[in-house]
Amino acid sequence: MSINRLIILLLIIMIALSGCSNVESNNSLENESAKNVERKSPVKEMKEDIEGPSKQNKSIVDTSGWFKVRGPVHIPILMYHSISTGNNSLYVPKDQFREQMTWLKDNGYYTLSPEEAYDVLTQGKKPRKKIILVTFDDGYLDNFTNAYPILRKYGMKATIFMIGRSIDKQNHLTKQQMKEMSQHGISIESHTINHLQLSQLPAEQQRNEMVQSKALYNKMLNQNTILLCYPFGSYNNETLKLAKETGYKMAVTTEPGAASRDQGLYALHRIRISPGMSIQGFGRIVDNANQ
Ligand SMILES: [Zn+2]
Repeated sequence: MSINRLIILLLIIMIALSGCSNVESNNSLENESAKNVERKSPVKEMKEDIEGPSKQNKSIVDTSGWFKVRGPVHIPILMYHSISTGNNSLYVPKDQFREQMTWLKDNGYYTLSPEEAYDVLTQGKKPRKKIILVTFDDGYLDNFTNAYPILRKYGMKATIFMIGRSIDKQNHLTKQQMKEMSQHGISIESHTINHLQLSQLPAEQQRNEMVQSKALYNKMLNQNTILLCYPFGSYNNETLKLAKETGYKMAVTTEPGAASRDQGLYALHRIRISPGMSIQGFGRIVDNANQ
């Protein structure tokens, strides 16, 4: 009898134990699947960082209505910095900037997005006879307060090359301003994180500057960042290779003149707009570069 009781007791204990272990294994399965979910999400984010979400895919441009150009295409890429009064060549006063944008508008210029500029250069097609890419380096606050209202009023597109570490810093754009502009025709593209001379950096550090800034803007602005601007126009052969490897489609330098494909998509030239330039001089430079 006592042996029977002992056996029954043992059976009860065994059943109870197996129940526990079932619960445990269920829990561990749940934990495992939770871990899987956790593991999946960064991958998903990374994918979005690299490719950009499809719902706002600016990289698809409808070029069916564009016309084919005979010979190599050139794009004037204007380079501005601050739109305000100051005592060096990086400042273009607001009145001059307005006059220049008015001239572009009155003379039938079409302002390109970076995606459109890429298609112009790679397909040899144009949306209009006169095209231009307006860019600003360094992301000064006055790009938002002075330039943006003028561009918006005229329905003109432009591109701001933002320095990652300058976001929300004094005299520079805030995250909120960047978001607002990027929804109204102003593309925010990369001017790296730390604004260092890339040609002076080891390859790994160059790569980090490119990868981190691209991921930052992809995520912040829900976009695929395709255009890189080398700080101080500084680059070497390694830079050209890395810009392509890290997923940019084009990069701009400070070498003067119109941009064309034969310069290489990662070494495009630009036209520096200095303060005090006459509007006739501005017009001549722009027209000459738009051949
Ligand atoms: Zn810069």
